[in-house]
Amino acid sequence: MGEFELIDIIRTRCVHARNDVALGIGDDAALLDAPAGRQLAVCTDTLVAGVHFPRDTAPDDIGWKSLAVNLSDLAAMGAEPAWAQLALTLPDADGGFVERFAGGFAELANAHGVALVGGDVTQGPLTVTVTALGLVPRGMALTRSGARLGDAVFVTGTLGDAAGALELLRHREAGTGDRPDAFPALLARLNRPAPRLAAGLALRGIASACIDVSDGLLADLGRLCNASGVGAEIAADALPVSPQLASSCDAGTCRMLALSGGDDYELCFTAPATRTVEIDALLADAGCAATRIGRIVTGASVHVQDARGNPIDTPRAGWEHFPR
Ligand code: ADP
Ligand code: MG
Repeated sequence: MGEFELIDIIRTRCVHARNDVALGIGDDAALLDAPAGRQLAVCTDTLVAGVHFPRDTAPDDIGWKSLAVNLSDLAAMGAEPAWAQLALTLPDADGGFVERFAGGFAELANAHGVALVGGDVTQGPLTVTVTALGLVPRGMALTRSGARLGDAVFVTGTLGDAAGALELLRHREAGTGDRPDAFPALLARLNRPAPRLAAGLALRGIASACIDVSDGLLADLGRLCNASGVGAEIAADALPVSPQLASSCDAGTCRMLALSGGDDYELCFTAPATRTVEIDALLADAGCAATRIGRIVTGASVHVQDARGNPIDTPRAGWEHFPR
């Protein structure tokens, strides 16, 4: 099977039509009609087999996740997704793999009205790079840099589920521990993250700053704080943990996974504390509850406190590719 047959498989499975695609897959570049008065939000993320997902992850899950992690970035900007590009590096021309991969990719793309408008296919170790393009009314995008003293810190959904699944997979590989009943639910959070797009849209004009949690809450909230020139205090007991995770590990492990596990794809955002009730209502409508977990303070770092206000040690901040 050649490169063009593989592209054809992708093209026939990702057929979401948008009338703002003047020219899609097939020419040297795509032509897109960006509407007046809106800004393009553009982001790229790469997934490498064995680094970003276990090598034995199902092809359709890899397809879903490669788009999901990018849509999560658009969600964090308050942008509405529109188009995507897909650069696929494959060890060999495995049409069956590409079919299933494209199926998972298309499932999420269709759910959010995203048109795949181009990409590339190359040979090498399994690597997926997706570029997502979204639209946001001019000046309305959420950024990392707007957090202010006195703002409350919120996070959508629950934290630590995906990292909990990874832990259980590792235990299984090492031949230790059994699989709790909650394993399938946790694994679904790892393999099929649901980008919080509706929440991102709802937070436009309300959140002062926003970031998606991909590398762990501490790491990503730390980035938000850096960009805003502030610090944050987080109440460990307020961290939202799913019943599935709580039933799978002890409280200390849950807390560690929620703080620094990564792969959550929830939104962490700040807003004036006076808007908490309004935020609760908006996010309930958006289908994912938000939990108030702390507040913005002076300084430059993120501190975690227990119920008595005593500091909790947090050794691991989150995932980094080139740790020093
Ligand atoms: P070129 O050699 O001009 O870069 P290619 O032969 O790589 O063109 O690609 C042909 C067409 O197929 C282009 O429109 C490109 O965007 C599209 N394409 C290639 N790979 C993919 C892919 N993985 N997903 C979607 N479209 C793709
Ligand atoms: Mg090319």
